Amino acid sequence: MTDLLVIGGGLAGSEAAFQAAQRGLRVQLFEMRPSMQTGAHQTHDLAELVCSNSLGSNLPDRASGVLKNEMRMLGSMLLECAEAASLPAGGALAVDRELFARLVTERIESHPNIEIIREEVKEIPYSPAIIASGPLTSPALSRSIAALSAEEHLFFFDAISPIVDADTINLQIAFRASRYGTGEQDEGDYINCPLNREEYYAFVEALLNAQRIELRSFEEAIKSGVKAGHFFEGCLPVEIIAERGIDSLAFGPMRPVGLRDPRSGRRPYAVVQLRQDNLAGSLYNLVGFQTNLKFPEQKRVLRLIPGLENAEFIRYGQMHRNTFIASPKLLRPTLQHIQRADLFFAGQITGVEGYMGNIATGLLAGINAARVHHHEEPIVLPQTTMLGALCHYVTHADLKDFQPMKANFGILPALESTSKLGKRERASAHAERALADLQLALSLIAPAAVPGVGANSA
Ligand SMILES: Cc1cc2nc3c(=O)[nH]c(=O)nc-3n(C[C@H](O)[C@H](O)[C@H](O)COP(=O)(O)OP(=O)(O)OC[C@H]3O[C@@H](n4cnc5c(N)ncnc54)[C@H](O)[C@@H]3O)c2cc1C
Repeated sequence: MTDLLVIGGGLAGSEAAFQAAQRGLRVQLFEMRPSMQTGAHQTHDLAELVCSNSLGSNLPDRASGVLKNEMRMLGSMLLECAEAASLPAGGALAVDRELFARLVTERIESHPNIEIIREEVKEIPYSPAIIASGPLTSPALSRSIAALSAEEHLFFFDAISPIVDADTINLQIAFRASRYGTGEQDEGDYINCPLNREEYYAFVEALLNAQRIELRSFEEAIKSGVKAGHFFEGCLPVEIIAERGIDSLAFGPMRPVGLRDPRSGRRPYAVVQLRQDNLAGSLYNLVGFQTNLKFPEQKRVLRLIPGLENAEFIRYGQMHRNTFIASPKLLRPTLQHIQRADLFFAGQITGVEGYMGNIATGLLAGINAARVHHHEEPIVLPQTTMLGALCHYVTHADLKDFQPMKANFGILPALESTSKLGKRERASAHAERALADLQLALSLIAPAAVPGVGANSA
């Protein structure tokens, strides 16, 4: 008898299977490797890290550090393995990737409540399940997810535009306006960075000569335009648009139509528009600026844009293969499907990004699947916690601009009084509030959700 199927033995699936099994559920964990590979994974180990071996900052006042402290409180098995496999890396948690994956694999293999089945799952099961098949979900399962959620609610590529800290935009140069004055706010919905002809050509030249992240074989389609979200039919990185002709950006994402620079009263030669990215208005994204430049190159080249000369980048642009669902339409903050209380999604497929965020959503999905099994209310974590904020973000973001999000302070609700606090003090205040609120939330819920309680030995 099986109580729960977990599909995908990556970061999220391994954590989810363990958490549910610890709470007494008999779990079957399906992993298609090694018989079927993803194109990025190289081993048959569970929880293989496909790229970097860093799990982000370990410092308590960094976003990723806050998330880690929350996961320690929630009893993350993968974080324990990461700590056991850690390497010296300053304030970051970097791991020996082989040791990390081996430790996780051993913990799962030796768990009395978990059976590992090395098979591809081609369809969403009708019984209780957690889908944690990752950014490179197999084509057959992708089709089944598309059928469950309507084709337009499954995306295959990320088209991430860079996000900057609003306080670092120079509003002596950039100006607020909507095209043709059509915005909802009087002063305009967008922040616009105007470029004259010389500035535009210098920018395009720098863009064309900048170093790019190499595309993998399963990402070649990006060069000719891919479906990357709701309104991104035929979406291309800016550097590829620029290759098509020196003025192609000025007729594309940098078109200046309907805008006048208040300083000159004239239409600029080109414009980079920034759109508010979070409710607090502390984050702005560069509209249509998905790019595959290397991160330090993005910083260098995008700072050539007048108004962004001192911009701090909260997230860099990217375009890569990434299967993720339209979580704002399909998921509850408990990570349950809106129409099926016994079906959960976890990991990158929810639109949460970053190794730690993926592990964390696996942890919550595992706990909540166990709670549903035990006829208990699934947990919605406080939005003031980093994990709660991530789950809230992916389930409440504006669907038309929905793109994956990693842990950052911009998604947390504002602190009550921050006017006198510096950036680091604000971060510490966020961190303290997150841990206090998580502790309180855990003390208020039924025991089965508390790590280790009701567990079988493992
Ligand atoms: C090329 C690449 C590089 C990346 N680099 C980074 C990075 O440096 N840092 C970072 O934080 N994030 C990175 N990411 C994002 C990264 O994938 C995630 O952070 C993390 O691995 C996702 O965890 P997950 O559990 O959702 O998916 P995964 O860890 O990918 O696990 C999903 C598992 O499901 C299995 N699977 C898929 N379909 C099926 C099926 N139908 N049946 C059974 N099993 C199936 C897969 O084999 C895989 O083992 C990268 C992603 C890619 C594609």
